[in-house]
Amino acid sequence: MNKTILITGGAGFIGSHVVREFVLKYPEYQIINLDALTYAGNLENLKDIEHFPNYAFVKADITDKQAVLAIFQEYQPDGIIHLAAESHVDRSIVDPMAFVMTNVIGTVNLLNAARIIWEDNSEGKRFHHVSTDEVFGALGDTGFFTEETKYDPHSPYSASKASSDHFVRAYYDTYGLPIVLTNCSNNYGPNHFPEKLIPLCIHNILNNKSLPVYGDGKYTRDWLYVIDHAKAIDLVFHEGKNGDSYNVGGFNEWQNIDLIKELCKQMDEKLGRVHGSSEELITFVKDRPGHDLRYAIDATKINKELGWKPSVTFEEGLSRTIDWFLSNQEWLEHVTSGDYKKYYDNQYKDA
Ligand code: NAD
Repeated sequence: MNKTILITGGAGFIGSHVVREFVLKYPEYQIINLDALTYAGNLENLKDIEHFPNYAFVKADITDKQAVLAIFQEYQPDGIIHLAAESHVDRSIVDPMAFVMTNVIGTVNLLNAARIIWEDNSEGKRFHHVSTDEVFGALGDTGFFTEETKYDPHSPYSASKASSDHFVRAYYDTYGLPIVLTNCSNNYGPNHFPEKLIPLCIHNILNNKSLPVYGDGKYTRDWLYVIDHAKAIDLVFHEGKNGDSYNVGGFNEWQNIDLIKELCKQMDEKLGRVHGSSEELITFVKDRPGHDLRYAIDATKINKELGWKPSVTFEEGLSRTIDWFLSNQEWLEHVTSGDYKKYYDNQYKDA
């Protein structure tokens, strides 16, 4: 069936994989990528599909309510997949208001525009909000986040995402807007912006720079290969139940320090370096405030109801990710110059 799908944040890390998945899998759909191209947005991520006839890019800021409405009126999308966000916890500690503007106000602008254009008929329409497991707060040594876990965000980032999730549900309860939500664990993979742990360490190992590890390195996260997340979004967008949320995770918990050691081991092998040489770059740095000890996702619902599960093990996904970065060092150098570099120098001046 022909459909127009508007994907916000499609020039970012996860968004670019979602755009590619939809453009390639659904040639009958028109895919519109709406992105403001902030420091994290990079159209180079989509070079391979930008000439496809079912793909178009629109530069716009979701905090601009008039611009959002005009785009919705022009394209009349049947579906929205909303990924545009300020996404980095450390940045949210420095500038929380930027997170309120994009993640909260921007989301409400999109919800309002969807309400307006679907006012007469919302049959077959869908607003898919992409969110994070960080809205649930922190776990101790045991337990998992389920879809019923109470929200308990601790950082300005997770508070802004929690707020946006509440608005999305409120629009379902109040106006009957056809929504679904996904709350996913940490992603990794190709095109990951090198302010985040895995690409940052790959970049630093390549450049013989220290590998900054917060606190004692015992923070535990669940990691999911980004292409598996894109496939989960495709499934939930098409087959999820209106008003429902689905947790998405890799069944794959790692303490930061163990993850970095695995990464060092694989990098040494792939670069032909002496075993243990990358590990010598590990440097423990001062902890971030409000740091959550452990996140772990129970992804049973999406597995049982929609048949989704991760397609690769962590070791395999990590290997593919490293291979991608090694073959795309130009991309990495490009992204790590300019504004990103200034931010990086300031953020890790102790490392
Ligand atoms: P990202 O920072 O790589 O990309 C965000 C994109 O949004 C960029 O292309 C940026 O240009 C765009 N953007 C930012 N502000 C905008 C604005 N005001 N208007 C329009 N576009 C704007 O983020 P990501 O890691 O790809 O995350 C995408 C989504 O998935 C976010 O909503 C995030 O909360 C969620 N999420 C991320 C992870 C993760 O591990 N990265 C895990 C779970 C959920």
